[in-house]
Amino acid sequence: MLIDTHAHLDSLEDLPGALARAGENGIGKIIAISSDLESSRETVSISEKYGNVFAAVGVHPHAANTADSGVLNEIETLAGAGKVVAVGETGLDYHYLKSEKQAQIKSFAAHIGIAYRADLPVVIHVRDADQDLINILKTERVSGRTGVIHCFTGNYETARTYIDLGFYISFSGIATFKKSEEIRDAAKKIPGDRLLIETDSPYLAPVPLRGKSNEPAYVKYVAELIAGTRGVSPGEIEEMTSENAERLFRFER
Ligand SMILES: [Zn+2]
Ligand SMILES: [Zn+2]
Repeated sequence: MLIDTHAHLDSLEDLPGALARAGENGIGKIIAISSDLESSRETVSISEKYGNVFAAVGVHPHAANTADSGVLNEIETLAGAGKVVAVGETGLDYHYLKSEKQAQIKSFAAHIGIAYRADLPVVIHVRDADQDLINILKTERVSGRTGVIHCFTGNYETARTYIDLGFYISFSGIATFKKSEEIRDAAKKIPGDRLLIETDSPYLAPVPLRGKSNEPAYVKYVAELIAGTRGVSPGEIEEMTSENAERLFRFER
């Protein structure tokens, strides 16, 4: 059984079809990730409807300027819902800067607080902002259940820093792209017990489907790629990453 630890199920065009294909391709569990308050309400309701879907609630750094105290209070309430297994996605994105830095930093710190109080792991998005993110992780009270750096695009050294802080590293279809040697090097070298896989559907479809709309079934291509870089069988990666996901997210409350 494979687990897709990061999919924007509320943004898929044909959700029932995608979930059926995921089942046919051996995807046992999926975490529906949220991007803002509305999306958090939706992922919780999708998780209530489908047995193998769990939810993460939060406000994406792109939407950090919407994360006022009212929104954050509602996210905190949703974090207590039945099948919510994480807080996120949250983090810092200085590449697009769709919300200003200060708003992103404030929202990220608030999400860390929500995860701490709810005793949940946190799903972190980071782009061109590792140093600020690491500083926040070192100064805020982080949940003992840590979390995951999702869609990892850094090198081994950066991955090592997050692992030393207790975090897991999740690889997406980006790791299959031709120019992603550094990412594959990190996927090859990190300890097996910190490795996770995801699709980030509907974005970032892996090779050989690059450019198409992504869906949870395609997480198998990420598993195959990582198996190749580590010189093990896809079955071993499947077992290892699912065990890691079960340990981090627990999939029960
Ligand atoms: Zn992200
Ligand atoms: Zn995402």
